[in-house]
Amino acid sequence: MFTLPDLPFAKDALAPWTSAQTLEFHHGKHHAGYVSKLNDAVVGTEFLDKSLEEVIASARSKNQKVFNLAAQHFNHSFFWNCLTGASQQPSAHLLTMLERDFGSIDAFRDQFSAVAAAHFGSGWAWLVQDQAGKLIVKDFHDAETPVGTELRPILTLDVWEHAYYLDFKNDRASFIKGFWERVNWAFVAEQLV
Ligand code: MN
Repeated sequence: MFTLPDLPFAKDALAPWTSAQTLEFHHGKHHAGYVSKLNDAVVGTEFLDKSLEEVIASARSKNQKVFNLAAQHFNHSFFWNCLTGASQQPSAHLLTMLERDFGSIDAFRDQFSAVAAAHFGSGWAWLVQDQAGKLIVKDFHDAETPVGTELRPILTLDVWEHAYYLDFKNDRASFIKGFWERVNWAFVAEQLV
């Protein structure tokens, strides 16, 4: 059985960027729905009693429904961990890595923001690390996820409309701008290899 993780912050901790009302729906309805439907979908299948990462890797080519639900469960759980109500600065090590691969942290933020803003339809903007350790910005459609690929998840932003519509309506650019005040850089740094 997969379970909905508690949010790693108080429901009003991200306001006004993301309101408690948005989180009641985004975490309490959307994410909870993916978990509950995933549990129903794996009954009687080879995916039962496997880890979430194993389910994602093996369902990707075998079962689109299970893949989508499992990937959305992973993506949302990871997304909550990327956020914090307390403003943080990246560690010196993370800054060095971002400078090595993007030139500067501002150049990284600009590239990530541009990819998130330009993403057509539902999906996710990700910072990932390739097998050589290089940091890359990449968008993924719908439920797609770096899990089970050769890319390592480092930081993500949900750009499905349900992530921002109650707070920003159609203004995705302002949602993306406010994201940078809410990034849990300590968690991000822990994901690096
Ligand atoms: Mn979402």
